[in-house]
Amino acid sequence: MIRPLPAWMAEGLCAQTDPESFFPEKGGSTATAKRVCAACGVRADCLDYALTTGERDGVWGGTSERERRQLLAQEVA
Ligand code: SF4
Repeated sequence: MIRPLPAWMAEGLCAQTDPESFFPEKGGSTATAKRVCAACGVRADCLDYALTTGERDGVWGGTSERERRQLLAQEVA
């Protein structure tokens, strides 16, 4: 079953920028994407979505995959 995309996604600043910066190669910089996220009005929704759905790849809500794993581990602890 395909879930409909949340409405906030249409407001994400990443939709207006280079999507490749949000999915860098392994070891690549996430700085460019994080700068865009910092100015994004739906950042909190985005981060909540990524944590809830377990998004593994890319920058979501200003966080890398590793940072999201750390946040989830802190919630469990
Ligand atoms: S917080 Fe970042 S990844 Fe999420 S919608 Fe905004 S720009 Fe895109």
